[in-house]
Order: sequence, then structure tokens, then C-alpha cells
Amino acid sequence: GEQVRVPIVAGNWKMHKTVDEAVAFVNEIKDHLPDPKIQETALAAPTLDLTAMVKAAQGSPLKVAAENCYCKNSGAYTGETSPSMLWDAGIHHVILGHSERRRIFHENDQLINAKVKAALKVGLCPIVCCDETMGRLINGKRVHWVVARIIDDLKDLTPDEVKKVTIAYEPTWAIGTGQSADPEQAEEGCYLIRQTIEDMYSQDLANQMRILYGGSVNVDNIDRLMGSNDIDGVLVGTESLDPQTFLRLVNR
Ligand code: PGA
Repeated sequence: GEQVRVPIVAGNWKMHKTVDEAVAFVNEIKDHLPDPKIQETALAAPTLDLTAMVKAAQGSPLKVAAENCYCKNSGAYTGETSPSMLWDAGIHHVILGHSERRRIFHENDQLINAKVKAALKVGLCPIVCCDETMGRLINGKRVHWVVARIIDDLKDLTPDEVKKVTIAYEPTWAIGTGQSADPEQAEEGCYLIRQTIEDMYSQDLANQMRILYGGSVNVDNIDRLMGSNDIDGVLVGTESLDPQTFLRLVNR
């Protein structure tokens, strides 16, 4: 069926920018963002930057997002940030299960699923990253990989919970390499995720879900990527670090 999904352009700064740099960035872009009814703009930033960014972004359509959180709200978990702490700081979105968290910090689907549930419980909207380590030629394995990630990461979520989730399809080989998936591959991955949601829930719910593409998105390839039917937006790493470049990605 026809469903209107509001597209999203989201930046992911990863481990970049001090508080001062983050605030200067927000101040530079905040008056130049699109009407959020037409396209949403989000920026995921290091934990230390978030409070100052929320303050700077007040009254603008910018959604400030966290890049990670833990699956408990308090306790003896040295070094972690809880979902409820993010919520109390005015953060409403959190990236979970980014490929770098999985590879470098050994996060598995079980932990990511627990984080997704804990985030939803306090009201946060998770942006769940579905990575894909397979090369482009081993098609059967790619399919299996993507479907397994979605089934395991969203395990036991109610339809109302899953509606609040945004998914980002991010082939590992395309992240930070300058080698984006071509629009057909990106579309195929996002379509596969939507089909999996349909199998797990319903066609109606699958049509409401927003599924983003991420991996070497830049000003030259964003239009073709976002022009695809099943791609509802992009998650941008490297090219989100410069405010004027980010504005060019947002305002096309
Ligand atoms: P990239 O990062 O745009 O630098 O490839 C994307 C991501 O990791 O979300």
C-alpha cells in the first residue's frame, strides 16, 4: 500500500568533535534545516557533546542522537551510559549496533536486542544498524546475514515498539571506504530488511518502517541513493563532519 515515510538525513560523527566544536556546528546549521514534516535531520554525537548540543539545538528541527547506550538504567557498569540518562538529558534517539560497535567492541545480537528493548522502554527511538560483512558477490550469504541480524536484533519487540525503530542498512565494506554501495545494491539491502519486517510482523507495519542506507554517502551519490523506493534516508559518517557539507547533504 501507499504509505508516506518522512525521509531522514542523519549524521554520525563517531569519535569526533569537542563540546565547543559540536556547539559551533549546531549553531552554524540550525537555522538552515528543512521542515521536519518534509525531511528530518539528525546528528549523532559523542556522549560528552550531547547536553550542550541539545541546548544549542533548542527550537530548531535538529534531532540530537546518542551513538550508543547500555541495556541497564543504572548499576555497576563502569564506563557506560544508560538509556534513562540519555532521556533525562533531552535525547530522544540513539544509534544501536553500529558495525564498529560489533567489530571493535564485540557487541553481539543478543546484547543489541537487550539495548534496543531498554532504549524503547524509556522512550528512546533506536536507530538499529544492520551491518553486512559479506562481499557483494556471495549473494545467498548476504541474504542470510541481513535477515538474521534483523530477526535477532528485533527479537520479541511488540508491533508498537518496532514502529519506533529506524533501521540503517550499512554494508561493512562501504563504511568509511569511499566506496558506497551502488543504488541497486543499497536498495536491495533495504528491500530485504523491509521484507523481513513484513514476515515478522505485517505488510502494513513494514510499509511504515523507515530504513536508511549508510556507507560512504556523499554529495555526489546522495540523490540517487535517496531516490530509491525502499531507501528512506541516509546515515552519513565522514561527510557529516563539516557543517557546510552536511548542509549540502540535507538541502538538496
Ligand atoms: P561513512 O560512515 O559515511 O564514513 O562511510 C557511515 C557510518 O558508519 O554510519
